[in-house]
Amino acid sequence: MKEDNNTLNIEFAHSKKRVDVTVAVLTDSTQRFLENFASARFTTPEFAALLGDGSGADKFSNLLKAVGMENNPYPFFSKVLDEISQGRGTQIELNGVVLPSMMLVSILEQVIPGNGYVTIRKASQLESEANFLVKEEDRDALQEVIEKYPVRLSRHTIRQMMVSRDVAYQYMPFVEELDAVGFVNTWIGQFHDGLLEQMYQNRVIFLLNMSCPVYCRFCFRKHKDSRNEANPTPADVAKAVDHVKQSPAIKEIVVTGGDPFMNRKNMAATIDGLSEVEHVQALRLASRSVAYYPDLFLKDEAEYLTYLKEKKFMLERSGKRMELATHFIHPDEVSPEALDIISNLVKSGVSVYIQTPFLSECNDEGPELVKLFGLLRGAGAEIHYIYIPCSPIHGNSIYWKPLSGGIETAAHLRAHLSDRAIPTICTATPIGKMDWFTSGWAVERVKDNDSFLWFRTPYTLDFFKSFAPLKDLSNMRLNNHGTLDIQYMAKIGNEDYLLGERPPKKAPVNDPVPDNEIEMMIDELSNQCQTARSIVETGVAGLFRLHETRVEIGPDAGTVQMNYIKADARITDVVISAENSGGIGTDAIDHLHEIARIVKTLREIDHVTSARLRSPKLCTAPKAFSRDVIHALGDLNHLSVSQPLRLEIETWCILPRQITPEHKLLVRRLNNKGITVYCNAALLGGVNDNDEIIHQLAHEIRATGMEFHHVYVAGLPIQEKWNQSRPIDSYDVVDIATKVRREGSGREIPRYMFFTRLGEADYGLNTSFIRDPGNPADAQVKVKLDCYDLSYFKGMEPGFTLPEGIDLDGDCPVASVPGMIKTNDFAIS
Ligand code: SF4
Repeated sequence: MKEDNNTLNIEFAHSKKRVDVTVAVLTDSTQRFLENFASARFTTPEFAALLGDGSGADKFSNLLKAVGMENNPYPFFSKVLDEISQGRGTQIELNGVVLPSMMLVSILEQVIPGNGYVTIRKASQLESEANFLVKEEDRDALQEVIEKYPVRLSRHTIRQMMVSRDVAYQYMPFVEELDAVGFVNTWIGQFHDGLLEQMYQNRVIFLLNMSCPVYCRFCFRKHKDSRNEANPTPADVAKAVDHVKQSPAIKEIVVTGGDPFMNRKNMAATIDGLSEVEHVQALRLASRSVAYYPDLFLKDEAEYLTYLKEKKFMLERSGKRMELATHFIHPDEVSPEALDIISNLVKSGVSVYIQTPFLSECNDEGPELVKLFGLLRGAGAEIHYIYIPCSPIHGNSIYWKPLSGGIETAAHLRAHLSDRAIPTICTATPIGKMDWFTSGWAVERVKDNDSFLWFRTPYTLDFFKSFAPLKDLSNMRLNNHGTLDIQYMAKIGNEDYLLGERPPKKAPVNDPVPDNEIEMMIDELSNQCQTARSIVETGVAGLFRLHETRVEIGPDAGTVQMNYIKADARITDVVISAENSGGIGTDAIDHLHEIARIVKTLREIDHVTSARLRSPKLCTAPKAFSRDVIHALGDLNHLSVSQPLRLEIETWCILPRQITPEHKLLVRRLNNKGITVYCNAALLGGVNDNDEIIHQLAHEIRATGMEFHHVYVAGLPIQEKWNQSRPIDSYDVVDIATKVRREGSGREIPRYMFFTRLGEADYGLNTSFIRDPGNPADAQVKVKLDCYDLSYFKGMEPGFTLPEGIDLDGDCPVASVPGMIKTNDFAIS
């Protein structure tokens, strides 16, 4: 290298600030970045391939070569910083090489370091603080925007905005905010008392702080009236805690704001106060600072994280959980700092879950969400919700996208993302959330009003009676199955998604099954893996391709299986299931020695981020998890920022009575080692095919600390046999989803899945029932898998042909699902 001691003099075009920085400093930091974050997960496959293997110095050297500046970092940094300083905020490309935004942010950290945040009161400050071009013709309007909808930016966000249009799009004010279409405020909470709001029977919101360190432009509390509200005090918190104490139905508290972490006194009063309320089960602390102001958690040697972890153990002693809810929207927001916060908390047993507003022209295609969720999942996060559409309030219209956009994106995610990272697609209606095509749907247009649709919700009038009876029903109506439809401002985008009114139920109810037969079902689920069915020919014995992103192997897997995994960068998840080994013991934990060997190899494969052990014993024989076993599992778990391989344990359970206090203790011990446990269930006729049982099961699973992952509604081998004579009525799936959504926690909701010869797909969301128009009522039910097409399978097996019994409808496969009946022509029920 030459000239690495040269100093660059950078002048930012709009702020007019001048900065001097040495090439040596920039080289050093870029090499460190590339050492840890050059892989395809953080950059792109093309960029990673170009840099090759080796040290950060080797990779930087390869980068310079690729951009035509071999051994010459000075012009490289000069060109990069010149581009950034022009304030265009666009992608930077040198000699055909697109430079990843995370790397550019790491360069900017050397040029404009620092943390904290700045409140913007004048349009000119956008220029001076963020190097943003304010066009003269926009200046007055922009000033008006700033006065109406306050602007605040963190230094971290400013750096990200300088190199990413998709980050700037979220935080930088724009003149279209003056457009008055939409509501002034969205309606929030049926019941308000001081800082407490209540929308659901079993949970309340505490609003601890009214401001945020950064203001998202799409926020539903964006108006200055919201920002300028006085903050509550610890005395107000005490009053709210007292309300909870007097309300035994309240099990969970969502602590939010603004950012509640900005108000340490109120946070402490909340955690300490609620720790003493016996019936409270979970505190869910919400903060977007993980993404846009990580210094809030990391400053002073991560003192806030240490405080949280201590409080988490305090809450645990009184049987309560602490969770952190955060928002991420686009992969350009993901920083090493954010990943560090997430993995730090998850390793200590604080689960971190992600919610994502769906924003037009930002994260509305699919690939960007696959990347975002993949990165966050690697650090240990759980992907929870995508909200469609963005809040229909004043100043937000550029972010609105027709509902069809979100629905269709779900199909992309199902095909290309790990099943463990698929969020629930939901809409927050004014009376509560609904999940698309299970607990809710769009019924029809509101007559004479193009802007509004009727949504079917899972809520009933009775639901609200105990805490805040509904008074104004002017925008609601009762549908013929007893729940409320509500008017919602949105565009549907595709008329096929207006489903109309659900007809009454026709099918008979299955008789309850005797206990001895249920035990047989439990045994079968424990001893026969239900999901090991390769969707394509892998050519490798003992390796099943379950999905583009997922394979299943046995503990005896060796070089051949590992080579298959290594060769396909789309594989992120490896399920290890002992049922496939033919060896002693049918549970993964009977094979920990072999599994340790496999995990060691998997850690070397950059694209694999999760090893999933299938363990029916976790449910049926929890004593098998001795302390030694838990320690061994803890050693296998590797949550880290740059090269994670998280360990997850899969178990199966069909009835709430299978879950005991012993499970709670066991799962807590595993969670405290950062290990996630998730539970699947199969709907079995006469066993658990009713809403009350699945609601109770969901509740028990959450109370135990597991994630309720899939409820298979049809298609598993056990269902093909058992449900033939006791069929599952598709009508009941909607009823089950309705009750689980209405009466459970939002954190208890599973994905309702079909299992087919060609893979899994979401009930209603990316499957459609195919019925013969002249059908007999008992005709075999078939479903079209809207998320897959032939090219999908050929991408994994070039010679792929459709298996016997699978047809095509258009490009998508159609599979029969024996054991399910459908007794009407309604699209999803
Ligand atoms: S973090 Fe949440 S409350 Fe704060 S501005 Fe963004 S969306 Fe609004």
